[in-house]
Amino acid sequence: MKKIQIAIDGPASSGKSTVAKIIARNLGLIYLDTGAMYRVATLVALQEKTEDASKIIQFIENHPISFANGKNGQEVLVGLDNVTEVIRTNEVTNAVSKISAMVEIREFMVAEQQRIAQKGGIIMDGRDIGTVVLPQANLKIFLVASVDERAERRYKENLSKGIPTDLERLKVEIAERDRKDSTRVVSPLKQAEDAILLDSTGKTIKEIVQFIEEKAKKLM
Ligand code: C5P
Repeated sequence: MKKIQIAIDGPASSGKSTVAKIIARNLGLIYLDTGAMYRVATLVALQEKTEDASKIIQFIENHPISFANGKNGQEVLVGLDNVTEVIRTNEVTNAVSKISAMVEIREFMVAEQQRIAQKGGIIMDGRDIGTVVLPQANLKIFLVASVDERAERRYKENLSKGIPTDLERLKVEIAERDRKDSTRVVSPLKQAEDAILLDSTGKTIKEIVQFIEEKAKKLM
Protein backbone atom coordinates (compact mmCIF):
# COMPACT_ATOMS: atom_id res chain seq x y z
CA MET A 1 0.00 0.00 0.00
CA LYS A 2 1.18 3.50 -0.78
CA LYS A 3 2.12 5.70 2.16
CA ILE A 4 -0.13 8.70 1.95
CA GLN A 5 -0.26 12.10 3.57
CA ILE A 6 -3.60 13.57 4.59
CA ALA A 7 -3.91 17.22 5.63
CA ILE A 8 -6.96 18.32 7.61
CA ASP A 9 -7.23 22.04 8.21
CA GLY A 10 -10.03 24.21 9.47
CA PRO A 11 -11.21 26.57 12.19
CA ALA A 12 -11.32 25.84 15.92
CA SER A 13 -13.49 22.94 17.10
CA SER A 14 -14.59 21.88 13.63
CA GLY A 15 -13.97 18.22 14.53
CA LYS A 16 -10.57 17.90 12.84
CA SER A 17 -8.80 15.98 15.57
CA THR A 18 -11.77 13.71 16.32
CA VAL A 19 -12.02 12.53 12.72
CA ALA A 20 -8.25 12.49 12.15
CA LYS A 21 -7.71 10.15 15.11
CA ILE A 22 -10.35 7.69 13.87
CA ILE A 23 -8.99 7.73 10.32
CA ALA A 24 -5.42 7.24 11.58
CA ARG A 25 -6.50 4.15 13.49
CA ASN A 26 -8.59 2.73 10.64
CA LEU A 27 -5.99 3.30 7.93
CA GLY A 28 -2.85 2.66 10.00
CA LEU A 29 -1.47 6.20 9.70
CA ILE A 30 0.53 8.26 12.17
CA TYR A 31 -1.65 11.00 13.69
CA LEU A 32 -0.09 14.37 14.43
CA ASP A 33 -2.03 17.00 16.38
CA THR A 34 -0.17 20.16 15.38
CA GLY A 35 -2.48 22.34 17.50
CA ALA A 36 -1.14 20.53 20.58
CA MET A 37 2.37 21.67 19.62
CA TYR A 38 1.34 25.35 19.51
CA ARG A 39 -0.53 24.82 22.77
CA VAL A 40 2.69 23.52 24.33
CA ALA A 41 4.59 26.62 23.15
CA THR A 42 1.84 28.73 24.75
CA LEU A 43 2.01 26.80 28.02
CA VAL A 44 5.77 27.35 28.10
CA ALA A 45 5.25 31.08 27.46
CA LEU A 46 2.77 31.30 30.34
CA GLN A 47 4.80 29.20 32.77
CA GLU A 48 8.13 30.81 31.98
CA LYS A 49 6.45 34.24 31.83
CA THR A 50 8.06 35.11 28.51
CA GLU A 51 6.94 36.06 25.02
CA ASP A 52 10.45 35.81 23.68
CA ALA A 53 10.20 33.21 20.90
CA SER A 54 13.85 32.16 21.18
CA LYS A 55 13.44 31.44 24.91
CA ILE A 56 10.30 29.39 24.26
CA ILE A 57 12.07 27.41 21.53
CA GLN A 58 15.12 26.86 23.70
CA PHE A 59 12.92 25.51 26.48
CA ILE A 60 11.26 23.08 24.04
CA GLU A 61 14.62 22.01 22.65
CA ASN A 62 15.67 21.14 26.18
CA HIS A 63 12.31 19.50 26.98
CA PRO A 64 11.14 18.02 23.65
CA ILE A 65 7.48 17.55 22.80
CA SER A 66 6.46 13.92 22.41
CA PHE A 67 3.24 11.96 22.06
CA ALA A 68 2.38 8.71 23.80
CA ASN A 69 -0.57 6.34 23.79
CA GLY A 70 -2.30 6.63 27.15
CA LYS A 71 -5.39 5.04 28.68
CA ASN A 72 -7.66 7.81 27.38
CA GLY A 73 -6.02 8.28 23.99
CA GLN A 74 -3.04 10.26 22.86
CA GLU A 75 -1.05 12.02 25.57
CA VAL A 76 1.20 15.03 25.12
CA LEU A 77 4.51 15.27 26.95
CA VAL A 78 7.01 18.09 27.32
CA GLY A 79 10.22 16.52 28.46
CA LEU A 80 8.91 14.09 31.09
CA ASP A 81 5.85 16.19 32.06
CA ASN A 82 2.43 15.05 30.97
CA VAL A 83 0.66 18.23 29.75
CA THR A 84 -2.31 16.58 28.01
CA GLU A 85 -4.91 18.29 30.21
CA VAL A 86 -3.24 21.59 31.01
CA ILE A 87 -2.77 22.55 27.34
CA ARG A 88 -6.59 22.44 26.93
CA THR A 89 -7.37 24.92 29.71
CA ASN A 90 -9.05 28.22 28.83
CA GLU A 91 -5.94 30.11 29.82
CA VAL A 92 -3.89 28.34 27.16
CA THR A 93 -6.69 28.30 24.56
CA ASN A 94 -7.22 32.04 24.81
CA ALA A 95 -3.50 32.84 24.55
CA VAL A 96 -2.51 30.37 21.82
CA SER A 97 -3.29 32.55 18.76
CA LYS A 98 -0.78 35.16 19.90
CA ILE A 99 2.06 32.66 20.35
CA SER A 100 1.23 30.71 17.18
CA ALA A 101 1.45 33.93 15.15
CA MET A 102 5.19 34.29 15.92
CA VAL A 103 7.36 33.56 12.86
CA GLU A 104 10.18 31.84 14.77
CA ILE A 105 7.75 29.60 16.63
CA ARG A 106 6.07 28.59 13.37
CA GLU A 107 9.36 27.88 11.61
CA PHE A 108 10.44 25.68 14.50
CA MET A 109 7.13 23.77 14.65
CA VAL A 110 6.81 23.33 10.87
CA ALA A 111 10.33 21.85 10.69
CA GLU A 112 9.41 19.40 13.49
CA GLN A 113 6.15 18.49 11.76
CA GLN A 114 7.88 17.88 8.43
CA ARG A 115 10.48 15.73 10.16
CA ILE A 116 7.75 13.59 11.74
CA ALA A 117 6.02 13.29 8.35
CA GLN A 118 9.15 11.61 6.93
CA LYS A 119 8.44 8.60 9.13
CA GLY A 120 5.57 7.21 7.06
CA GLY A 121 1.90 7.54 6.16
CA ILE A 122 0.47 10.40 8.19
CA ILE A 123 -2.66 12.38 8.91
CA MET A 124 -2.07 15.83 10.40
CA ASP A 125 -4.61 18.36 11.55
CA GLY A 126 -4.08 22.07 12.00
CA ARG A 127 -4.44 25.38 10.20
CA ASP A 128 -1.59 25.45 7.65
CA ILE A 129 -1.01 21.78 6.88
CA GLY A 130 -2.27 21.82 3.29
CA THR A 131 -0.78 25.24 2.55
CA VAL A 132 2.62 25.16 4.31
CA VAL A 133 3.53 21.97 6.18
CA LEU A 134 2.55 19.34 3.60
CA PRO A 135 1.85 21.22 0.36
CA GLN A 136 2.32 17.91 -1.51
CA ALA A 137 -0.22 16.01 0.64
CA ASN A 138 -2.18 13.41 -1.35
CA LEU A 139 -5.47 14.48 0.19
CA LYS A 140 -6.39 17.86 1.66
CA ILE A 141 -9.59 18.53 3.54
CA PHE A 142 -10.78 21.90 4.82
CA LEU A 143 -13.26 21.07 7.54
CA VAL A 144 -15.68 23.79 8.60
CA ALA A 145 -18.89 24.06 10.66
CA SER A 146 -21.02 26.95 11.87
CA VAL A 147 -19.82 28.80 14.97
CA ASP A 148 -23.04 27.81 16.80
CA GLU A 149 -22.53 24.14 16.15
CA ARG A 150 -18.85 24.22 17.03
CA ALA A 151 -19.59 26.03 20.30
CA GLU A 152 -22.34 23.55 21.15
CA ARG A 153 -20.04 20.58 20.52
CA ARG A 154 -17.33 22.07 22.71
CA TYR A 155 -19.95 22.98 25.37
CA LYS A 156 -21.18 19.37 25.58
CA GLU A 157 -17.61 18.08 25.65
CA ASN A 158 -16.75 20.44 28.53
CA LEU A 159 -19.88 19.48 30.47
CA SER A 160 -19.06 15.79 30.09
CA LYS A 161 -15.63 16.52 31.57
CA GLY A 162 -17.21 18.53 34.39
CA ILE A 163 -15.74 21.84 33.17
CA PRO A 164 -18.24 24.67 33.86
CA THR A 165 -18.76 26.62 30.62
CA ASP A 166 -20.88 29.49 29.35
CA LEU A 167 -22.18 28.71 25.86
CA GLU A 168 -22.49 32.31 24.68
CA ARG A 169 -19.00 33.13 25.86
CA LEU A 170 -17.70 30.04 24.07
CA LYS A 171 -19.23 31.29 20.80
CA VAL A 172 -17.46 34.63 21.17
CA GLU A 173 -14.13 32.96 22.03
CA ILE A 174 -14.31 30.54 19.09
CA ALA A 175 -15.15 33.33 16.64
CA GLU A 176 -12.32 35.44 18.05
CA ARG A 177 -9.75 32.63 17.74
CA ASP A 178 -10.85 32.05 14.10
CA ARG A 179 -10.46 35.75 13.40
CA LYS A 180 -6.96 35.89 14.87
CA ASP A 181 -5.85 32.65 13.15
CA SER A 182 -7.23 33.77 9.76
CA THR A 183 -5.84 37.28 9.79
CA ARG A 184 -2.29 36.66 11.05
CA VAL A 185 0.49 37.53 8.64
CA VAL A 186 2.38 34.22 8.69
CA SER A 187 0.61 31.08 7.43
CA PRO A 188 -2.93 32.16 8.24
CA LEU A 189 -5.78 29.69 8.44
CA LYS A 190 -6.73 29.38 4.78
CA GLN A 191 -8.13 26.71 2.51
CA ALA A 192 -5.46 25.34 0.13
CA GLU A 193 -6.47 25.71 -3.50
CA ASP A 194 -6.52 21.95 -3.97
CA ALA A 195 -8.33 21.17 -0.69
CA ILE A 196 -11.83 19.75 -0.55
CA LEU A 197 -14.20 21.96 1.46
CA LEU A 198 -16.24 19.84 3.83
CA ASP A 199 -18.98 21.39 5.99
CA SER A 200 -19.68 19.19 9.00
CA THR A 201 -22.67 21.24 10.21
CA GLY A 202 -25.50 18.77 10.82
CA LYS A 203 -23.33 15.78 9.87
CA THR A 204 -22.22 12.96 12.16
CA ILE A 205 -18.59 12.09 12.85
CA LYS A 206 -19.22 8.78 11.10
CA GLU A 207 -20.36 10.52 7.92
CA ILE A 208 -17.31 12.77 7.85
CA VAL A 209 -14.94 9.87 8.51
CA GLN A 210 -16.57 7.79 5.77
CA PHE A 211 -16.30 10.61 3.24
CA ILE A 212 -12.59 11.14 3.91
CA GLU A 213 -11.75 7.44 4.09
CA GLU A 214 -13.37 6.73 0.75
CA LYS A 215 -11.19 9.36 -0.88
CA ALA A 216 -8.08 8.19 1.00
CA LYS A 217 -8.50 4.51 0.14
CA LYS A 218 -8.51 5.35 -3.56
CA LEU A 219 -5.10 6.95 -3.12
CA MET A 220 -3.47 4.16 -1.11
O1 C5P B 1 -6.28 22.76 16.81
P1 C5P B 1 -6.22 23.54 18.10
O2 C5P B 1 -7.48 24.27 18.39
O3 C5P B 1 -5.73 22.74 19.25
O4 C5P B 1 -5.10 24.64 17.81
C1 C5P B 1 -4.75 25.61 18.80
C2 C5P B 1 -4.18 26.84 18.12
O5 C5P B 1 -2.90 26.53 17.57
C3 C5P B 1 -4.97 27.44 16.96
O6 C5P B 1 -5.99 28.32 17.43
C4 C5P B 1 -3.89 28.17 16.19
O7 C5P B 1 -3.62 29.43 16.75
C5 C5P B 1 -2.67 27.30 16.41
N1 C5P B 1 -2.39 26.40 15.28
C6 C5P B 1 -1.71 26.91 14.22
N2 C5P B 1 -1.32 26.10 13.21
C7 C5P B 1 -1.61 24.79 13.23
C8 C5P B 1 -2.34 24.24 14.30
C9 C5P B 1 -2.75 25.09 15.32
O8 C5P B 1 -1.44 28.10 14.18
N3 C5P B 1 -1.17 24.01 12.24
